[in-house]
Amino acid sequence: MIPEFSETEIQRYARHILLPEIGGTGQAALRAASVLIIGAGGLGSPLGLYLAAAGVGRIGLVDDDVVDLSNLQRQIAHATDRIGQPKVESAAEAMRAVNPLVRVDAHATRLDAGNARALVGSYDLVCDGSDNFRTRYLLADACALERRTLVSAAVLRFEGQLSTFRPHRGGPCYRCLYPAPPRDGAVPSCAEAGVFGAVTGVMGTLQATEALKEILDIGDSLAGRLMVWDALAARFHTIRLSPDPDCPLCGTHPTIHDLSAHAASHAPSGACAIHAG
Ligand SMILES: [Zn+2]
Repeated sequence: MIPEFSETEIQRYARHILLPEIGGTGQAALRAASVLIIGAGGLGSPLGLYLAAAGVGRIGLVDDDVVDLSNLQRQIAHATDRIGQPKVESAAEAMRAVNPLVRVDAHATRLDAGNARALVGSYDLVCDGSDNFRTRYLLADACALERRTLVSAAVLRFEGQLSTFRPHRGGPCYRCLYPAPPRDGAVPSCAEAGVFGAVTGVMGTLQATEALKEILDIGDSLAGRLMVWDALAARFHTIRLSPDPDCPLCGTHPTIHDLSAHAASHAPSGACAIHAG
């Protein structure tokens, strides 16, 4: 039985509905779900397009940047004739073109201590595709405080990292893995060090896959594991992660209870937000 789908929806999602792991029930769960994407760039582009194509009912995009010529080498949701447009508008246009049945909320703003919890709390699941450590730590804290699952991807040069954090369900959080941001300048930015365009496409697509799996509750979650991809070596490997009892966010004696420590932060440190490893 397929729950109340139109003929158009049944055709559009036929290859999903055929999968026993999804079926009509799973497809209805995707339609009922909402996902917040931080960053409409290299990761956010394939992520947004695949979530829209998959029929996730409501997708939020947060980014305060505009499309630049140098983005187009990897940020495939944008187009040459949209240079200068807000990235959230450009990406929303591409996503609606793929699937007009999904609602796309374009938040043309920077995630900050004042808006993070309200934004995170109004979606079921959150994906981090940001390009700086300030946003990554702010988002990780907001997700833990709001009890939202965070699917987090990062890229630099030819390397990608991906994990899922859901400390509210017992797994480690982002700070269990990386307790504090690296010193400013300790990690080079994509602007300084470069990034291989297709690596962002693969990592954003893996991120979309994990987000959809979390919504559908199928397969093995990446919670408790960090997947690392070395594109030059053509090798994936996975590292086991455990919750840290001394974690400042989710440990037995947490010191982070709100986002006040982030309130003083201004401009982001210019890094692609991949930790050296
Ligand atoms: Zn933790």
